[in-house]
Amino acid sequence: MNAEIIAVGSELLTPTKLDTNSLWLTDQLNTLGIEVVQKTIVGDERARLAAVISGALERSDLVLITGGLGPTEDDVTRDAVCLALGRCQQFRQELCDQIAARFARIKRPMAEINKRQAFLIDGAEALPNERGTAPGQWLAVGAKAIALLPGPPGELKGLWAAEVLRRVTAMVPPLHIATAHFRVAGMGESDLDALIAPAYTRYTNPVTTILAAPGDVHIHLRARCAEQAEAEALVTELGAQVRELLGDRIYSEDGADLETVAGRLLRARGESLSVAESMTGGMLGQRITSVPNSSDYFRGGFLTYTNEMKHSLLGVPEAMLAQYTAVSEQVAIAMAQGARERTRSTWALSVTGYAGPAGENVGNVYLGIASPTMAEARHIQFGFDRNRIRNMSATTALDWLRKHLK
Ligand code: ATP
Repeated sequence: MNAEIIAVGSELLTPTKLDTNSLWLTDQLNTLGIEVVQKTIVGDERARLAAVISGALERSDLVLITGGLGPTEDDVTRDAVCLALGRCQQFRQELCDQIAARFARIKRPMAEINKRQAFLIDGAEALPNERGTAPGQWLAVGAKAIALLPGPPGELKGLWAAEVLRRVTAMVPPLHIATAHFRVAGMGESDLDALIAPAYTRYTNPVTTILAAPGDVHIHLRARCAEQAEAEALVTELGAQVRELLGDRIYSEDGADLETVAGRLLRARGESLSVAESMTGGMLGQRITSVPNSSDYFRGGFLTYTNEMKHSLLGVPEAMLAQYTAVSEQVAIAMAQGARERTRSTWALSVTGYAGPAGENVGNVYLGIASPTMAEARHIQFGFDRNRIRNMSATTALDWLRKHLK
């Protein structure tokens, strides 16, 4: 459905007066899913305005006219609509009484010319204007509609909310919505976008939104269609392409976070986990235990910041620490093995690295993983932001475990 806005008033054609009503109305219409296809500003001239209205009604489903409803000779909107549609307008005593009552409320005499505002176009509904004298008018023309609205922005907004919004909403065909949500770890937003853009840019429906946190990207697909089945088919079609392009980088399709997904896999396999953390200072354990009932599979963790603690709590050999340093493949593996043996867990994860910001090798991280049948390490070079390095390390470790469990 589309709409057109006509702002009436010669002052809007001067360099000092801006047509703000149409901006506000455009926002309202867009929110309802209605596209504004044309806006016109017309001076206070009957014939010219009538021509614009005729054209607008040919092009668009809904025509909103603001301004020109006042009592004076140069307020021409009612006359122009009559001219465009070949309709007449009638004096309505009840509208005149309402206008008179408003003048009485504000204790001002009602001038004779205000009676001009009590004319209603044939077939139109009057829209009471609580904030001004000129009532608005709503006119159905076949399946289309024209609304005559007051020019003062305060009056326009009041009348929109009280009378127009529900009439316009009733014209909008009901839309059904289908969505899909993919979560991806271990990939930056721009790399991910480069990979899937060739697929999603071919669709305007579904709309694709990509939201990124460090190491964790959300992809939302949202289709809006007249039929639910049609919306679901579109989401399924694009979703299959996204799945194909991202493969096992997708860790969840139901919104679940990484720690929840890893926990589900451990529980399903009846296996357990422990952690040995240096640089992440407990972040990994914190994330794992943020999931309710994680005690079903999480046995515990070691926070070993110094070499001495890595040796005494995890049994990492002093000679190994001296030879390779704490941030090394060998130590990452020894930390994971130490945690696994001491907790008797099935799996263990370890993290050791330099989070900076000072010193050399900032962002240099080793992750370790151990199970009854394997132990390996993985080297990752992150950027320079301390928070980011620590967060990404925990995320990458959890995602690595997830991939092993799958
Ligand atoms: P009323 O008779 O209720 O005062 P009206 O419908 O005759 O209103 P106009 O006389 O056209 O409205 O405009 C009244 C005032 O409203 C203008 O002087 C201007 O300040 C403001 N106005 C009108 N149109 C617009 C617009 N498109 N954008 C912003 N302000 C507007």
